[in-house]
Amino acid sequence: PPTSVADIRQSFLDFFAARGHTVVPSSPLVPGNDPTLMFTNSGMVQFKDVFLGTDQRPYTRATSVQACLRAGGKHNDLENVGYTARHHTFFEMLGNWSFGDYFKRESIEWGWELLTQVYGLPAEKLLATVYYEDDEAYDIWTQVIGLPPERVIRIGDNKGGKYKSDNFWMMADTGPCGPCSEIFYDHGAHIPGGPPGSPDEDGDRFIEIWNHVFMQFDMAADGSVTPLPAPCVDTGMGLERLAAILQHVHSNYEIDLFQALIGAAARETGCADLANPSLKVIADHIRATAFLVSDGVIPGNEGRGYVQRRIIRRAIRHGYKLGQKTPFFHKLVADLVAQMGEAYPRLAEQQAHITGVLKTEEERFFETLAHGMEILDAALAGGETTLPGEVAFKLHDTYGFPLDLTNDVCRERGVAVDEAGFDAAMQHQKEQARAAGKFKMDKLLDYHGDANTFTGYEHLAEDAKIVAIYEGGESVSELKEG
Ligand code: ATP
Ligand code: MG
Ligand code: MG
Ligand code: MG
Repeated sequence: PPTSVADIRQSFLDFFAARGHTVVPSSPLVPGNDPTLMFTNSGMVQFKDVFLGTDQRPYTRATSVQACLRAGGKHNDLENVGYTARHHTFFEMLGNWSFGDYFKRESIEWGWELLTQVYGLPAEKLLATVYYEDDEAYDIWTQVIGLPPERVIRIGDNKGGKYKSDNFWMMADTGPCGPCSEIFYDHGAHIPGGPPGSPDEDGDRFIEIWNHVFMQFDMAADGSVTPLPAPCVDTGMGLERLAAILQHVHSNYEIDLFQALIGAAARETGCADLANPSLKVIADHIRATAFLVSDGVIPGNEGRGYVQRRIIRRAIRHGYKLGQKTPFFHKLVADLVAQMGEAYPRLAEQQAHITGVLKTEEERFFETLAHGMEILDAALAGGETTLPGEVAFKLHDTYGFPLDLTNDVCRERGVAVDEAGFDAAMQHQKEQARAAGKFKMDKLLDYHGDANTFTGYEHLAEDAKIVAIYEGGESVSELKEG
């Protein structure tokens, strides 16, 4: 069976191409068809409108390897990185789709054939989950595939309500939805964790590898479902999780690609312990941030740019924790391109640009990082169990520490952050800025004359704009309301 990441990608696409699927390239991390979605977080995103019936394609079967990002949006795995064996922010999702063509039986049969015949996974290490009401999928697993019933697990409405379940998929509050069936791999009894549906399912012994979603209903606003005229299939399998199995390792971070990046992070930070979780974080974050730049996302103070900034700064702080006091992170771009540039030519083409963007952001953050860390350390020096909200806010406001970065440090030390206090401090500052803005407006009015008889609107508008920009971009009308 294939073992390298490149061979796994190709064999997956070949398998489905041989079964009538059109190979579709990965779409960018910034979704082109959905302004409400922060980042592409699964393979189906580029096909969303096909499922909704507002986009037509010349094919009814498709397959892809999709670059995905789960940070800062609806799916957020940022807090899992460095803690679990199976989560990244950036990862690649292998997928196959049926748009009103085949349904559950082919999807499950082909999935099983690929895993056991092409990839050679031992059948006895595989388990499947189904939505508890989905007898059709249950019967396919037990009768057609022949999986023993004790390894086909029915998952109910476990998220607090009808259809709120790990095994029921919804595109949104209304619209296409349906049950899913997920395939898990048992990495062995020496690893802590229970099977899906058990109280300790979040351990990493049984790792979810492939989700098969069966879109068969249309959900109305009242929560009732009616059958779709042409049911669809949407599947997604994490490339790195599959590679871990095929390379006979447990964690995604042990696969060749990640070992190369972890080695590079160790080289740049001087950390000799390759098992140090900070190296995993840095290796994960160089992928996310480099791919983001290659898809046009530059660090900034809002929206996607702020997620980008948060990920970069988190990585830098982990380097700092390992003793690195000067910019290092951007030097990993070359190592990433060596690993992934062939599969993603845009990444290779933009190597110099990506390196430059990351370096600039690093230089900026290194100016305040050490001082910010001193303040944080001092605030916790007395063995406090909670970091005061005002300190977290000061770190945010003056030292460029995003709240989640402060949280990340505190979590390592078993300290909570007073987030309500942070919000209050933020609110207080906004009000002060607004009051200051009003004060300045009054001054301006004084300067230009009485508001009632005042005629120099052009001057006023100009000055107000300057005040607005100075006070952090609040709108002129807001300032006038004071
Ligand atoms: P988990 O329960 O492990 O967090 P998930 O149920 O959130 O996974 P899905 O949304 O079903 O994942 O995505 C389909 C597949 O994509 C998963 O079965 C898994 O193989 C892979 N995957 C999901 N999230 C990640 C991630 N953060 N890093 C790497 N692979 C992932
Ligand atoms: Mg998840
Ligand atoms: Mg899951
Ligand atoms: Mg899943």
